[in-house]
Amino acid sequence: MDSRSDVVVLGAGPAGLAAALRAARGGARVTLLEAGPQVGGLCRTLQSHGCRYDLGGHIPFLRTAERVDWAEHLLGQELIWVDRPVARLQDGRVVPGRYIDQHPDHVPDAVAPDGTAAGELGSTVGASFRDRVIRQYMEKVDGWPLEVIAADRAVKLRDEQRAPDGFWFPPGGIGSLMEAMHRAVGEAGGTVRLGTPMTALHHRGGRVTGVEVGGDDPGTIHADAVISAVTPGLVVRAADPAAPEGLLPPITMRAVALVYLMAERAPVSDEAWIQVNHPEVPFSRIAEFINWDPGMVPAGRTVLCAEVYGTGGDDDPWWSLDDAALARAVADAMAHPLGWVDAPSAFRMLKVVRMPRAYPLVEAWRVGEAMRAPTWLASLDGLELARGGTVVTAIEAGEAAADRAGGAVPAGVA
Ligand SMILES: Cc1cc2nc3c(=O)[nH]c(=O)nc-3n(C[C@H](O)[C@H](O)[C@H](O)COP(=O)(O)OP(=O)(O)OC[C@H]3O[C@@H](n4cnc5c(N)ncnc54)[C@H](O)[C@@H]3O)c2cc1C
Repeated sequence: MDSRSDVVVLGAGPAGLAAALRAARGGARVTLLEAGPQVGGLCRTLQSHGCRYDLGGHIPFLRTAERVDWAEHLLGQELIWVDRPVARLQDGRVVPGRYIDQHPDHVPDAVAPDGTAAGELGSTVGASFRDRVIRQYMEKVDGWPLEVIAADRAVKLRDEQRAPDGFWFPPGGIGSLMEAMHRAVGEAGGTVRLGTPMTALHHRGGRVTGVEVGGDDPGTIHADAVISAVTPGLVVRAADPAAPEGLLPPITMRAVALVYLMAERAPVSDEAWIQVNHPEVPFSRIAEFINWDPGMVPAGRTVLCAEVYGTGGDDDPWWSLDDAALARAVADAMAHPLGWVDAPSAFRMLKVVRMPRAYPLVEAWRVGEAMRAPTWLASLDGLELARGGTVVTAIEAGEAAADRAGGAVPAGVA
């Protein structure tokens, strides 16, 4: 079936939801396409055994009063202020503050920035402090020496993901905010099509003309503007006619296994999220949801999510374990070497979610290559890209993309 929209948005993660909401509220006829059965992308809240738990810890980083108001208005209720910064394991103890936020009093050995994470961090906290406090954790998460990781990764982690005093959180989990955005798109007159992947992006003469969709109701949607809130590689592969060769150099993807454990007991800690640099511990971060919102887990229980980062390949000692063995390894690590619990057998596996391509890692000297796909896409008229590395930067990118696509909104309607 052929149909027409002013704006088609690809992907209903936070970026796509925000783009669709902004464009629909501006008066455009909007169709938001989502390949999966539900909205939220990586920002989903799962449920089982009477418990709610997010797809990994998800601090939305809502920093300004305006953004907090915006979220509360959408949710129809107040956000929760979680009065805990992200904590870290240091010298065997859990203490407040992320590794990357630590600073020495004096920086006697600052190094020059050189485009790598090592240079970036060494220029601000000094080489010796970087190596003593930050290196082990970042290398455990990313699996590469800091000398290989692009500086931008360290800058984004440091600046975009700061929550030094605590953070605002949607009651019921990050997925509540995504569901609220979903509802608001509908109320603003937008159409959200779940289970409807974009399968081709049509363009002619340097201008996007519409998209092809699959699912139960396949067809072509002609559009004045397309906003892409999916990975650029996916859109380049879907280009019809085909995109030029060489836009997609191989990029290393980092894998994460999210291991959910539940026990009938008091919380293991007072912390929302703990970073762990210990090399013998499978996980690099662990979230305890009762400390994010007590309403997510019934009294007398606790649910934790351990984030186990790796290559996702056969060389990855944790990833290659089956789910039950991986869950056991996580529970055992909480007993030894961490000493947080006495009886790891009290924990049962709720679920293991494996994301073999959780996020891209780009070597410092290959950033230019990695930008080829987004650069080509940005050269197409009528196509706007909405990408962000965190919930709030994704939302802002979606809104900005909708504003740039403003010409697609019929004049006078907004
Ligand atoms: C373990 C983990 C922990 C994280 N913790 C945090 C945190 O604490 N704070 C934070 O701010 N961020 C965090 N993030 C990052 C955050 O989840 C992402 O930045 C954010 O989800 C990006 O939003 P997005 O809309 O760009 O993409 P996504 O959330 O990836 O959404 C993309 C959507 O596009 C859909 N899609 C894919 N292909 C197609 C297609 N062909 N057609 C239609 N739809 C398609 C997908 O199904 C998906 O719903 C975390 C990520 C992970 C993996």
